[in-house]
Amino acid sequence: MSIIIKSQNEIAIMRQAGKAVSRVLQRLAREVRPGMKTQELDIICEEELARCGAKASFKGYRGFPASVCVSINDEVVHGIPGTRVICEGDIVSLDVGAIVDGFQGDAAITVGVGETSPLARELMAVTQGALAAGIAAARAGSHLGDVSAAIQQYVESRGFSVVREYTGHGIGREMHEEPQIPNVGVPGEGVLLRKGMTLAIEPMVNAGGWATRVCGDHWTVVTADGSLSAHFEHTIAVTDGEPEILTAI
Ligand code: MG
Repeated sequence: MSIIIKSQNEIAIMRQAGKAVSRVLQRLAREVRPGMKTQELDIICEEELARCGAKASFKGYRGFPASVCVSINDEVVHGIPGTRVICEGDIVSLDVGAIVDGFQGDAAITVGVGETSPLARELMAVTQGALAAGIAAARAGSHLGDVSAAIQQYVESRGFSVVREYTGHGIGREMHEEPQIPNVGVPGEGVLLRKGMTLAIEPMVNAGGWATRVCGDHWTVVTADGSLSAHFEHTIAVTDGEPEILTAI
């Protein structure tokens, strides 16, 4: 499969999918609270997607059973909503994908529940900053390695580590299109970025080492050393100038 350049009409539809993702994430961020079971977030996600006239991207994807990934504390990505109860001080990563008229949007945020530790707050801020740095580097005429390197440099210069086993991705009619977007890389290397490319950029950042493992449910990814992890993601379109954030909050 090769990289698919989108027309302005296709990007306009992706903007709608992105808007739905953004609305769902904002609602989840407002409603998450201590004492809540993670499956309640999935119900809210479904309700809000329906309100937006959108379909869930994740539900049924390779058998994933829910519409939102909920990953808490040392969980990196792909947590399955269930009976786990959210606690004061947790950091909760929420990843949502939506389909509108056959096109996808994909974004993630990490939110603190109540009073979180200074380390947790710094980790969330650095991960969000790394996403912004990656997006800023996604300009027509630059290379994918510029995006990856911007993220890696931002994170590592602040003493945290970037997950290597999972990457961002091209996105469009399919949730995962070419190219893969690693969060580590070398400036000037990799695919040349062109107007009309639509990309899901998603740094996953650990307070400890970068290594991860997959839990017994075959989905939930956790840090190998038990350290905290945060995840921020946006779907963007490469333009002639500033990248357009299709899932902007
Ligand atoms: Mg993604």
